[in-house]
Amino acid sequence: MYIGNHLSASKGYAAMGRAAVKLGANTFAFFTRNPRGGKAKEIDAADVEAYLRIAEEQQFGTLVAHAPYTMNLCAAKEDVRNFSREIFADDLRRMEYTPGNYYNFHPGAHVGQGAEEGIRLIAEAINEALWAEQTTTVLLETMAGKGTEVGRTFEELSAVMERVTLSDKLGVCFDTCHVWDAGYDIANRLDEVLEEFDRVIGLERLRAVHFNDSMNPCGAHKDRHAKIGEGCIGMDALRRVALHPLLAGKPFILETPNDDEGYRREIALVRSWE
Ligand code: FE
Ligand code: FE
Ligand code: ZN
Repeated sequence: MYIGNHLSASKGYAAMGRAAVKLGANTFAFFTRNPRGGKAKEIDAADVEAYLRIAEEQQFGTLVAHAPYTMNLCAAKEDVRNFSREIFADDLRRMEYTPGNYYNFHPGAHVGQGAEEGIRLIAEAINEALWAEQTTTVLLETMAGKGTEVGRTFEELSAVMERVTLSDKLGVCFDTCHVWDAGYDIANRLDEVLEEFDRVIGLERLRAVHFNDSMNPCGAHKDRHAKIGEGCIGMDALRRVALHPLLAGKPFILETPNDDEGYRREIALVRSWE
C-alpha cells in the first residue's frame, strides 16, 4: 500500500523524502509553490538527485503534487485566468524534474459564469498547457461543491476531460471528504459510487485518493476535513475505502488536520488494516 501525507516543500525534495520515511510513508503530497502565493523557487538539480535516490531505496509510489489554491483556470477576470495559466504551465515544466508523478489541481471556481463556461475555460487552459512528451499525469480533484466550485459531480469532471485533446495525460484524484460533501454516500453505498464513477468517468482515470474524514454530513458542500475516524464518514467506512480492491495500489494521501505525530499514527493505523 502506498500511503503518505501532505508535507512542507520549504526545505526541498530530499528533505521531503526523509520526512516521509520518518513518518512511515512511501508517497507524499506537497505544494508546488506557496499555496496562496505566486512565485516558485527554482528547482535545485542536486536536491532532486538526492531525492530520487531516497525514492528508489525506499520504493516510493507515485507522488501527488498539489497546485496552489490561488490557481483558478476558470476565473471570471482575464488577468487571474492568465496568471493561473502561467502557474499551471510553469508547474508542469517543473514537475518534469521528478518524472512520472501526478500533478493534482482543483479544476476551478466559475464565480457566477456558470459551470458550463467554467468547464469550457478549464479545458481550454489544459489544452494550452499539455504537451505530448510530458511524463506527468495531471489529476483533476473531485470537489465538495463549496461556492461555485467546478468538479462537484463526476459529470462535470468528465465534461472537462472530454474536451481535452491529450486526454491520456489526465486522471482524477478521488478526495473522500469532497465526494462525501458533494453528496456521494461512500459510507453506505461505496460500491454504487465507484460504479457511478466508472460509468461516468471510467475507473482507469482514478489515479490517486485524498484520504480524509469529513466534519459534515453527506451532501453538506462544506469541505472541512476531519481526522480519520473522527468525522461523519467514520472509521469503518474509511477502512472499506482503503481496502477496496478497485483502489488497491493507488497512492493514498492524508490531508487530515494533524501534526507530524498525528500523521505518523494515522499512517500506522491505515497500514494495520492491510
Ligand atoms: Fe485539494
Ligand atoms: Fe483534497
Ligand atoms: Zn478539501
